[in-house]
Amino acid sequence: MKLNRIVVVGGSIAALTAAETLRIEGFDGSITVLSDEKVPPYTRVPLSKSALAGRELEDDLTLPAMSDDVDLRLHTRAEGLDVHRRLVHTKEGSVPFDGLVIATGARARTVGHRRGGERVLRDIEHSRSLRADLATASSVLVVGGGFLGMEIASTCRELGKDVTVVDREPPLERLLGPLVGARIRDAARMAGVRIRVAAGDVELVGGKTPSGARIANDEVLEADMVVSAVGDLPNIEWLLGSGLRLNGGVHVDAWCRARPNIVAAGDVAVQAGPDGSSRRTPSWTNAIEQARAAAQALLRAENAAPYRPSHYYWTEQFGLDVKMVGPPGSDGTPTISEGSLDCPPALLEWHTSGTAYRVVALNHGIRPAKLKRLVPAHHSRSVLR
Ligand SMILES: Cc1cc2nc3c(=O)[nH]c(=O)nc-3n(C[C@H](O)[C@H](O)[C@H](O)COP(=O)(O)OP(=O)(O)OC[C@H]3O[C@@H](n4cnc5c(N)ncnc54)[C@H](O)[C@@H]3O)c2cc1C
Repeated sequence: MKLNRIVVVGGSIAALTAAETLRIEGFDGSITVLSDEKVPPYTRVPLSKSALAGRELEDDLTLPAMSDDVDLRLHTRAEGLDVHRRLVHTKEGSVPFDGLVIATGARARTVGHRRGGERVLRDIEHSRSLRADLATASSVLVVGGGFLGMEIASTCRELGKDVTVVDREPPLERLLGPLVGARIRDAARMAGVRIRVAAGDVELVGGKTPSGARIANDEVLEADMVVSAVGDLPNIEWLLGSGLRLNGGVHVDAWCRARPNIVAAGDVAVQAGPDGSSRRTPSWTNAIEQARAAAQALLRAENAAPYRPSHYYWTEQFGLDVKMVGPPGSDGTPTISEGSLDCPPALLEWHTSGTAYRVVALNHGIRPAKLKRLVPAHHSRSVLR
């Protein structure tokens, strides 16, 4: 079927990349982008790092503008999808499409403070208000020790705050394994961060705005400011009842298709690995690569290449620049192939049957493209769990 009208729903990197890829691939029909944000697409990556620290201005976060011939409609939330009549419903009316790109990403998960008012960091407004309130806070409790939680902790230390991180597991261990996780936690402690590993659930306490967290034995960790960084949830509510398979995200095939004329990409998309299990891959690089693949598949179906994620991730915290290729995990024992973990630069490799399935570079100048070549793509896919 010839596509004349493509609608992209989402206002961030996956939506922008999909729209631009459609044009690069020669699509000359209409492209309408529906974004519920008030501002044009921007990068979220610095929101926990340089922007929160005040080293980067909000204006500098704006991503390159979409082409003039893309109809970007800000402040326009998709509220429903009719797959058969090919309509996206919004408050302003229904938008018809021949092809649809779903790129509605994710929002911050919350611990579930019973009075609401929980502070999270997902968008530019969160970052702005967090930064403003940090000016008068002297202590910060970060609930969640993943990449985001530890980045927030690092920036808050940089701003001179008294910082505690609490998690049910040692921070970063599940993502980077015991060795690298411990190395980064050491750097955090050296920087003055307290790390608490809580047995069992963490419950936020206080008035509307939490003032602390209760952990095991009724101990309460108090702080002027509490920030939850406990993962994300895909934005799929607008698709309920559409008939698309929604279970922890929009399920797509190897070409990122939910239907022949509907693709999904970025933090919202769930794709099966070769072992048959399905997962989202919430990361900046995945959003870009998957959006390109999805746009190509929308135009060329199986003649386009199936999506092969590079599994490239990075984080910056406590003076450490961490680049990783391969699925995150705590399995296996790495060998240090270059440098020293105690005094980076260091390059670590995880092998099975003589082939690397994960590499981590710490303060190492290696370019991402070269790092990716160290992990054969088919191999990094085959160990996905
Ligand atoms: C603070 C922070 C720091 C990060 N740092 C890193 C990092 O260092 N490295 C890394 O790899 N990744 C990082 N990430 C993750 C990365 O930013 C995300 O993986 C990426 O933004 C995903 O892009 P996306 O376009 O799929 O989704 P999102 O960025 O979530 O964008 C979804 C867009 O869709 C819009 N939308 C949602 N629902 C609707 C609707 N119904 N109608 C219309 N529009 C809708 C949203 O408002 C948003 O504009 C970070 C994320 C955050 C929050």
